[in-house]
Amino acid sequence: MRIVLATRNAGKIAELRRILSGFDVVGLEEFPAIGEVAETGVTFEENALLKAHAVAKGSGLPAVADDSGLCVDVLNGMPGVFSARWAGSHGDDRANLDLLLAQISDVPAGKLSAHFACAAALALPSGEHRVVEGTLPGRLVTTPRGSNGFGYDPIFVPDGDERTTAEMPPEEKDAISHRGRAFRGLAPIVREVLGS
Ligand code: IMP
Repeated sequence: MRIVLATRNAGKIAELRRILSGFDVVGLEEFPAIGEVAETGVTFEENALLKAHAVAKGSGLPAVADDSGLCVDVLNGMPGVFSARWAGSHGDDRANLDLLLAQISDVPAGKLSAHFACAAALALPSGEHRVVEGTLPGRLVTTPRGSNGFGYDPIFVPDGDERTTAEMPPEEKDAISHRGRAFRGLAPIVREVLGS
């Protein structure tokens, strides 16, 4: 059974192929007519569903999409769904990180609890859908460390660890990450809904 993953990110496609073994997972590059889907939702679940439904409709195939971000308790859960565009322009990881660091510069280290969150959604061309959320709890540090990963990884330390997620080997981060947890939670549901 073919499933379309609503992304052009080769790393995400490879990760989902490993988790959904047995399915033929393809990316959006196979469907050039499907354009960017605006992330107008105000929750991770809403944005994941917007993308999954648009791609299921455009491709005529079951579609999986995710939306993720960093939620900082002292900022009332922000940057949240605005994580990728916190400093204004979409996907400028360095500017997003610098702005967040400036905002938390006066906060005591003991008050920097945060979590990564991810919603993974499956949508069928019929309009049926399912969503699973995964989280990774931790805390922020104010001096970036490590060069793996992306986004806010250099300042995020998962609970029970002293390393930032940018200091972890990629497989180790995948095993505990919000995205890994959401996709691994969605996998049995995809098998049940699609009957394979
Ligand atoms: P998305 O691609 O729309 O889900 O945007 C997610 C944004 O949240 C990214 O641009 C990062 O800023 C942040 N983010 C999500 N997951 C991670 C992660 O695993 N590490 C670091 N930053 C992340």
